[in-house]
Amino acid sequence: MKKIVVDWVACDGHGLCAQMAPELIDLDDWGFPIITHQPEDQRSNLLAQSAVEACPVLALRLERVD
Ligand code: SF4
Repeated sequence: MKKIVVDWVACDGHGLCAQMAPELIDLDDWGFPIITHQPEDQRSNLLAQSAVEACPVLALRLERVD
């Protein structure tokens, strides 16, 4: 399994991640991400990967969880 991790120093609140994976990521009032769900199947893993790739400042990553 993998989990979405936010680098809060790098994140600028662009909000693209939530657009790419709305089932997993919400935005707070300032446009910063709230991880509402972690990916649990292949489909949500692909969504999470799209969010990671969409972030213009590379503030998201997927970490393997055992
Ligand atoms: S796309 Fe990147 S910079 Fe923008 S809110 Fe998401 S994690 Fe932060």
